Amino acid sequence: MRALLTARLVRRCKPRAPSHGAGGTRATNEPGSPGGSRCLPNTAATFCLLVASGPTMRRLPRSAVACALCALFLFVSAADADTLDHSRVSDLIETTARDIGQPFPGVHIHIVDPADHVRSDTENGDASVDFSSLLERINGEIAAPLGFAKSMAIGRQAAFAFLYREMATGLHALSDGRTLCIVYPMPAPLRLGQLASLLSGNAESRPVAAIDFEAADFYRFLLYHEVAHCGEVPWRLRSQGLGAYDIYLAESRADAFAVLMHVRRTGRDGLPRFMAQVRKDGMRFRGDVEHQTAEVIEPAIAFATNLRRTGSFDGMSLNDLMHAARDLAHDHALGRGDFDAQGSLPAAHQRRPP
Ligand SMILES: [Zn+2]
Repeated sequence: MRALLTARLVRRCKPRAPSHGAGGTRATNEPGSPGGSRCLPNTAATFCLLVASGPTMRRLPRSAVACALCALFLFVSAADADTLDHSRVSDLIETTARDIGQPFPGVHIHIVDPADHVRSDTENGDASVDFSSLLERINGEIAAPLGFAKSMAIGRQAAFAFLYREMATGLHALSDGRTLCIVYPMPAPLRLGQLASLLSGNAESRPVAAIDFEAADFYRFLLYHEVAHCGEVPWRLRSQGLGAYDIYLAESRADAFAVLMHVRRTGRDGLPRFMAQVRKDGMRFRGDVEHQTAEVIEPAIAFATNLRRTGSFDGMSLNDLMHAARDLAHDHALGRGDFDAQGSLPAAHQRRPP
């Protein structure tokens, strides 16, 4: 038991280099590795191990000490796996952005880290968004000024996403023919149950039975989903005439891509299966017709599992996976007639940025 615990402590407690703040480069960890704050509960577990090996604890039955430590460690680990703090979210955004790179030709993807641009130190306690640092960073990346209209649109989308704590993606056609795609992830702190309930509209949405994923996996799945939207063309936006059915197809493509990415990374399907249930709940509890993607998620799981089993993921680029996701949505999503027969969108779900 001690060897097992020690191995886990070493794996989880890698030091995190200091962040350089807005405009600089954040510290990097290995994909999926934890941030600095996760070391705190593990330090407590280390302390317990040392106490357990001390003279007082040696007088207690060895099995009782082992059980107590095991229970404590499992409690700390469960809370840790369920919760995402600011440091963990920043690590997830950074490692995902690095793993993703720029997979779509002609598209520049920027995943915003809310911790770099959302300020909560205002006098009245409200949070504010530092638009200038966000625009400055994006201007630097695309090596071209965005212009007034796009800057305004980006500011509005960032405020909407961070205010309502929703994942969102903004697509902007640049004058040189490229597409700028900005992903606005949900700010920390977050819990797994809270994430699921936000999407499903069902307060009881909880992973049940054999859990093979953590809050971090769920958050990363949502990042993959948003990145997939970067593969759309910028004129296909609701504000420019895109209807609910086309949005639904885009959401189906995005979920299929996220399933492929998740299974490729982990080899497990518990999260996509849970996600299919979340999407069904979303339709039932929120009237979320745009995200009723379970019919696409389920065949995507089977497709991804087969790719993994045959080793076929190895020869596929992310752009290839995006094409596969498009095919899955094309083959399994509802037809326009069946979609329209479900009735109109509930007013509550039309809360989207203009
Ligand atoms: Zn989406």
